[in-house]
Parts: sequence; structure tokens; C-alpha cells
Amino acid sequence: MPTTCVVGILWGDEGKGKVIDYLAAETDYVVRFGGGHNAGHTLVLPPEIAGEGKLVLHLVPSGIVHSHTVNVIGNGVVVDPIHLCQEIEKLQKRGISIELGRNMLVSERAHVILEAHQRQDQLAESGRNSKIGTTGRGIGPAYSDRCGRIGLRVGDLIRPDTLRQALTALAVQKNVLFEPAGMAPLDVDATFDQLVAAGEKLRPAIVDAGLVLRQARNAGKRILLEGAQGCLLDLEHGTYPFVTSSHATTGGAYSGTGMPPHEMLTVGIVKAYATRVGEGPFPTELFDETAEQLRAAGKEYGSTTGRPRRIGWFDTVAVRYSGGISGAHELVLTSLDVLQGFPLKLAVDYKLADGTLTKNLPAFDLDKVEPQFLEMPGFDENICDVRDFDALPQNAKNYVTAIEEHTGLRVGTISVGPGRDQLIKR
Ligand code: GDP
Repeated sequence: MPTTCVVGILWGDEGKGKVIDYLAAETDYVVRFGGGHNAGHTLVLPPEIAGEGKLVLHLVPSGIVHSHTVNVIGNGVVVDPIHLCQEIEKLQKRGISIELGRNMLVSERAHVILEAHQRQDQLAESGRNSKIGTTGRGIGPAYSDRCGRIGLRVGDLIRPDTLRQALTALAVQKNVLFEPAGMAPLDVDATFDQLVAAGEKLRPAIVDAGLVLRQARNAGKRILLEGAQGCLLDLEHGTYPFVTSSHATTGGAYSGTGMPPHEMLTVGIVKAYATRVGEGPFPTELFDETAEQLRAAGKEYGSTTGRPRRIGWFDTVAVRYSGGISGAHELVLTSLDVLQGFPLKLAVDYKLADGTLTKNLPAFDLDKVEPQFLEMPGFDENICDVRDFDALPQNAKNYVTAIEEHTGLRVGTISVGPGRDQLIKR
């Protein structure tokens, strides 16, 4: 099957970057299909590829470190053009070859994030009674303007006449929001100049990406669709309203790229324990010192914001739900190494307020369910160097098998460390 779609199974940060980097070695095109620069993928690479230290990618697809791949920002992504230019420059300074138009393309239909959107995001978050916990980067307002039919698209950046008109019209609407909040009106001229400059830089990369991808697929090229965030943050299927503004699950991979629905292999990435950033229900969340210890062991701090991630036990009810929504054919289980020395616990049912047990994730009152746990003995061995499933400690193997039994999904690959080669294929 020439197309593979990688999605996060819970609330993001599962280690998709590492898995995509691994899969990209055998891929011709790597395509981001949703989200904005709120997402961050972290790659730990050999120093000859990107120098010392981790590589954090926000908008640029994770295939960029493989010189043979074409990396595409699909139409479903919202693009802050200033940020994109800076991210590209930063990567180039680290020795990564990015040639716009050759190995980096941006859909002309992708919507643009403006300074106005960032201001609007911050305004909304400071005034909201129940905070969603957004990163304040303007992603939600840019998607809202897309729905409201007043957004700007990347293709507008290289069309100065229509750009100025659209920007002027948008400023009128936005200033109505900003003036009562004591904010200065938008500076249309300055924004216009910045956007035109970014457009000039990006010009060689701005294409009809959907057409490019459909042609590539027809020519039998291998395409990897890279999800951001996770299924439980999907605008429609996630833990609404504590969700992102885009479609983080497989459905978004079609609409966010312009590729027609076709058979593809969907791989769900899930951590061996659960984490969540921001607000919203999290049934298996831990509040005791085990949470502190797991957070420290897994270095669970956001790659974009540095915010400490909330920590919980593995949730087979949630994973089963996301597996169904995304049509995942198999799971990649990441960070199993982090559980060394911890007890192993899995939620296998939820008890609802009326006392009934369910294996289905409810759309309402998720914060009121009581997860029912299966406890299993843990493992004390360091497994970072294990490359063969049979060589894992028996208790680790039992845990993986229990995950498969209770989620109904096969665990095809296990990640036992952040490094590129720290994988067990089954
Ligand atoms: P993404 O958004 O899904 O790509 O996830 P992030 O990159 O934000 O977070 C995943 C973090 O876990 C990164 O720092 C990775 O380097 C790290 N990571 C990925 N897989 C593993 C693993 O199997 N074990 C450990 N210990 N860390 C991992």
C-alpha cells in the first residue's frame, strides 16, 4: 500500500516525529495535513545529520531530514508565514538542506495565520471562563476565519493586489474586537509588507499541492501523511470543547491534502502511559507522586511551550475509541522504556455515574467516569537496548499483550527510547 497515515491516538506528544522519521526512510513524500505551529515534533538524530541536540519541528514535515523526500505542507494546515520562514532558516543553519520548490512545498490553499489571529487567541483565552489551554498562536482564530470565509490563503501572499484588499477588509472586522480591549488597531501597511516579503521568500514552494500529490499517487509514489496532535483533540471526535480546531484523525488526512479517499495504512501512535497538555477531561490522570516520577522519567514537558504535561495510566477505552475513529491498522507503542521500575496499570472499563460499566468513550461527562484498572507487575530491567520482542522482560511482554487484548489493536512496533534505532519491530 503506497500511502501511510500516521496519527496520534490520544492527545498528542506520543512521539509521532520519531516514527515519521523512521518511516520516511522508505517514503517519497511526507505531508502535514492539519494543525499549525502549535504542534511540535521532536527528533533525536545522529550528529552528522543535524549537529548536536534534539531537532524540534513545528510546521516543516518530519521527512525533511531525509534528502530524498519531498515535504509538503497541505491545505489543511494553517501557516504563519513569518514563523515558517524562520523555521526553514533555522533548519538550514543546522545543516539541513531545504530547497523550496524541490524538497519543500506549501499548498497555495493553506490558510494564513496573521498577527490579528494571535491577538484574538490571547484575548479569547484571557476572557474565557473555562480555559481550553491553547498555545495562543492564532491557530483557532485562523481556522474560524477560514469557516467565516474571510481568511487569507498562502497563494494570496504572492498576489499583492488581492492581498491588500483582503487584509484591509479583515482589519475592519478585527479592529472592532481590539479597540474595546484597548489594543492598537492593526497596522495594515506593516502587515502587508511583512506578508509580501514572506511570500517572495516562499514563492518557489507555493504550489497546488493537492494536484502534486494526486499526480504522485497516480505515479505510484509512496506518500506518508503526518498527523499533528491526536485523535482525542480532533475538532469533532475529540473531547469537545477541549479540542484543537482541525481534524487530527484520518478523515483530516483526505480533506487536508486534497487526495481522494483511497486505501491507506493507518498507524496509530500511542505512548505506554498517557499524557495530556492543556485543560479537559483525562480519566486516568494521576495526581500523586507517581505522576511526578513518570513526568521526570519521560521528560514530559511540551516541546513548543515547555508546559509540564499531565500524566496518567494507559487507557484502553480511549485507545480503542481512537483506533476505531482513525481506522488504525496497528499501533506503535512508544516510551515503553520510561515505565522501567513503575507498576503497570491499564484502564479496561469506565464506570459511569449510574454504576454501569462501559468500554465505549462517552461524548459527555467524561470527567465523571471512574476508570477500572487492571494492575500488572512491572519490570526493573533497562530495555533501551532491546531490539527483539522476545528479549523484553516477561512483564513488559505481558503488558504489551494486555494492551492488544483490551484495545483490539495489534502493537506492530515498540519504541524503547528517543533515538532513531531504538525500535522493536514485531
Ligand atoms: P510528537 O508530537 O508526537 O512527535 O511528540 P513529541 O516530539 O512532542 O514528544 C515525544 C517526546 O518523546 C520527544 O522528546 C521524543 O524524543 C521522545 N520519545 C519518542 N519516542 C520515545 C521513546 O520510545 N522513549 C523515550 N524515552 N522517549 C521517546
